[in-house]
Amino acid sequence: MKKLEYYKMMLDGTPCGICHVALDEKLTILYANQSYYQIYGYTAENAEAQGFTNAKFILPEDDYQSIMDTIQCHIRRKDRYFQLEFRAIHSSRKLMWLLVQCAYDPDRPGSMLCVLLDIADRKQMEDQIRMSMQESKIAFQLTDKMMYIYEPAARRLKQPKSAADEFGLPPVMDDVPYSVLRTGAIDEACVNDYVAFYESIIRGEKSGHSVVKKRRRDGSFGWYEAKYASIFDECGMVKRAVISCEDITEQREKELSYQKWSNYFKAREGKTIGVYEYNLTKNLYDDTKGDAPPDYLRSLKTYTGTVRYIAEHFVHERDLEKFTKFFDRDSLLVRYYNGQTTGVLDYLRKRRDGEFFWVRAVILLLADPYSSDVRLFMMTQDIDQDKRMELKLRSQMEHDGMTGLLNRETFIARVSEILGASAPSKRHALIMLDIDEFKRHNDQYGHPYGDQVIRETARFIYGVLRKTDLCGRMGGDEFMVFLNDISSEEEMLPRIEMLCRLLRRSDDARGEITCSMGVVFYPRDGRTFQELYQKADTALYDVKRTGRGNYRIYSFDLKGEGEEGDASISGTGPDTPTATCPPAS
Ligand code: GH3
Ligand code: MG
Repeated sequence: MKKLEYYKMMLDGTPCGICHVALDEKLTILYANQSYYQIYGYTAENAEAQGFTNAKFILPEDDYQSIMDTIQCHIRRKDRYFQLEFRAIHSSRKLMWLLVQCAYDPDRPGSMLCVLLDIADRKQMEDQIRMSMQESKIAFQLTDKMMYIYEPAARRLKQPKSAADEFGLPPVMDDVPYSVLRTGAIDEACVNDYVAFYESIIRGEKSGHSVVKKRRRDGSFGWYEAKYASIFDECGMVKRAVISCEDITEQREKELSYQKWSNYFKAREGKTIGVYEYNLTKNLYDDTKGDAPPDYLRSLKTYTGTVRYIAEHFVHERDLEKFTKFFDRDSLLVRYYNGQTTGVLDYLRKRRDGEFFWVRAVILLLADPYSSDVRLFMMTQDIDQDKRMELKLRSQMEHDGMTGLLNRETFIARVSEILGASAPSKRHALIMLDIDEFKRHNDQYGHPYGDQVIRETARFIYGVLRKTDLCGRMGGDEFMVFLNDISSEEEMLPRIEMLCRLLRRSDDARGEITCSMGVVFYPRDGRTFQELYQKADTALYDVKRTGRGNYRIYSFDLKGEGEEGDASISGTGPDTPTATCPPAS
């Protein structure tokens, strides 16, 4: 075999395409091995018949000129070796990517040698990588997360421009995490976590997570959650880590306040009966949080069911309405959305033995940090001892020690409150009552006897009151009665007369005791306590002036103390009824 043929045989057996092309306009093929033709879907035998005698034949028209320009450029520079990557047309008309290693000898300028590789697989892989990178980028954009790349060998962090801008940092930073710490972007309390995050990447951990408070370019602080996944080379060395970073400020703030309050509630010791948690939005009792529920609560899964059960079984009838109102689910939700997140309710609760005791329910409404559902924390405390003491003190402050009636200030305050809230269509009566010639009783029979008369008078008055009426000792031997919500002035007269009669009593040894009363009506005689008081005083003065032991209903022609009296008023006229009370039987 001739040497040349022997070489040809060797070239035909080579698995890559080899050709010798003329550097003419069409890149005429001077020689090509079998593999060369096979790459394009031809054989050495059929190629010529189909016109495949030059490289232009297999180049797409659009690419041809730029490929030629590239070749010319290398030739001009006298590059002996250069590479070309180009698309070519397969015999099946499909496009394929090829890599050509060209060898050019400037001493033989008319042609060059080419070795071809089919790089379709590589191109496809590159395409896939490009696509998946594009996909990851889009996925990140859709999640509002930022993607960082960290190269542990160089401790280099590459951040997207938006993230770099947010924190006022350059997009590429070396010596991370320490260079970032030097900028002061990491809150002091989080420095250790921040460093530990990057150190774990450098150590070669596969993945990690941290939450860090960072200072933004505008000076505000935010909470950021970062997660990473490391990428390793074939030797198992970490090459880089992909870090996703998310602004979780809103959730974190909620989480912290949720934790703070839940810990606060749980830390209450001593007289806490229980701490329970409910999901108000979903109307659920959350038995995973708070204290273990008592047996009766175990089967009640809803918030409203629990409230109803407690109301029916434990709440004193007296407090039932305010309890139900306070714990009404809709009202609490409205309250929460109006920014009121706390509340306190004291109520009387039934103990196992049937006795009632005072408890305080403290509630807190918080958004669940993960779902934004409104959660209700409820802490119930036994405040019986303190509450009873408080009530006793308050009662002492509000009542007259000798008679047990309301004292002057409290009586005025309570009546004023009722008057202030009264519609003009309502009617009330106010009676000013004074023991007649009390000084004389005192002087003749001594102060203890006088005290006894005061107490007795209070008892008589109290005996004729309804639950809603009020009675106060205004000082000395003066009392006031407030008849709340009466039907009519006329219908009150028998009651007033009866009271007057009741208060007239006699003691064989110490003589008769009588009282005088001045009566006014709301709204006829006034709308404020002050107005009514003055007129009641005028009416009372008139009784004292005209003989005592009577009552007088105020009329405009009555004259008060120091004014000229009208002789015609004594007991006549429709507006000025007077009465002389018969002795009490
Ligand atoms: P009048 O019929 O005009 O009301 O004559 P009076 O003697 O009752 O006069 P007045 O109402 O002004 O007298 C009240 C007296 O009550 C004066 C005071 O010494 C006496 N007093 C005030 N507080 C007490 C008390 O707590 N106990 C006793 N025993 N006397 C009191
Ligand atoms: Mg008196």
